[in-house]
Amino acid sequence: MTPQRMAIMKYLDGNTSHPSASDIYEALQEQFPTMSLATVYNTMETLKQQGSVVELSIDAGKKRFDPNPKPHHHLICVRCRKIVDIFVDFPLELSPERTGGFEIIGNHVDFYGICGICREKQVKTTQTKQ
Ligand SMILES: [Zn+2]
Ligand SMILES: [Zn+2]
Repeated sequence: MTPQRMAIMKYLDGNTSHPSASDIYEALQEQFPTMSLATVYNTMETLKQQGSVVELSIDAGKKRFDPNPKPHHHLICVRCRKIVDIFVDFPLELSPERTGGFEIIGNHVDFYGICGICREKQVKTTQTKQ
């Protein structure tokens, strides 16, 4: 394993910010000035294939990665794009007539909203306008 891949894995360990490849690249620039964005992309692709990270498509702006492969759901702020983990089991039942022979192995629920910080900002902006 290359020191660069080790650094990426260390950065991802316990990281709940759901970073994109460019976020990871920027975070490790100082420590690894020679690391290219392509290296980050390739490493993330490998980690994804190994099942160590999950690729998230809930942010339309960019591909984000989740270093927690345990099944969970997400809250996403439509303003700042923050993604928060939700560890709740939702009793989502699909009848066999609907699934047409599919064996269901999981689900992923995305909640969209405005996070606490953005809501606070919103309040402040409205107050200054008055
Ligand atoms: Zn927000
Ligand atoms: Zn997550």
